[in-house]
Amino acid sequence: MMKVAGRVTAEVLDIMRENVRPGVSTGELDRLAEEHIRKNNGIPAFKNYKPAYNMKPFPGTICASINEEVVHGIPSFDRILQEGDIISVDVGAYVNGWCGDAACTYAVGAISPEKQKLLEVTEDALNRAIASALRGNTLGDIGHAVESYVKTFGYGVVRDYTGHGIGKKMHEAPQIPNYGNAGQGMTLKAGMTIAIEPMIMSGREDVRVGANGWTVSTVDGSDAAHFERSIVILDDGPEILTKWQSIR
Ligand code: MG
Repeated sequence: MMKVAGRVTAEVLDIMRENVRPGVSTGELDRLAEEHIRKNNGIPAFKNYKPAYNMKPFPGTICASINEEVVHGIPSFDRILQEGDIISVDVGAYVNGWCGDAACTYAVGAISPEKQKLLEVTEDALNRAIASALRGNTLGDIGHAVESYVKTFGYGVVRDYTGHGIGKKMHEAPQIPNYGNAGQGMTLKAGMTIAIEPMIMSGREDVRVGANGWTVSTVDGSDAAHFERSIVILDDGPEILTKWQSIR
């Protein structure tokens, strides 16, 4: 069941990959995402999502976060992608009562080598984290895999937001930080389904929430990238549920 939800969710990102280009609005990307989810009898998981900490329900199907925006950017037909931008698209979908959650950061046209490096390192950090999600390892091993790798590039790790368990609800226990100590925290078991999602910035780690109550940006204006996959931990290793295409 979660493979079906994961497939629909990942397909949305592959549609984003084809449609991200200069001149496209984040509202149009949002429209394409919702269309695909509903066509597959799914329900956008983010739309009208209202966590306890936020008074306003989220209005979009995708989170569209550009450049220094880290996560939770609100899509809009007035927000037009420019050559050289990077855009993080996060999307979740319920299909038959089960949830998929995934994110990817895309280049808009030609981008700077610095931005390209941030994207590739963050995707690689996600892959390293997934490789560490083995039965018998711990949550700390996942966080350590992300943090220890991105630190070698001088990048920062978002600490206020984390990955999470996923199943019939989008956000289930446990939280899955992108930092931590190897061997510490909850032990991973076969059958667990989790969303791992490094949020990495090229500068300092401080973030703030914008006036719209949602958009999280870096305080120093440095670029941020966000890659996420839902996975299931099996006896013989992790299996990816949201198989979106790599940025490479
Ligand atoms: Mg997530």
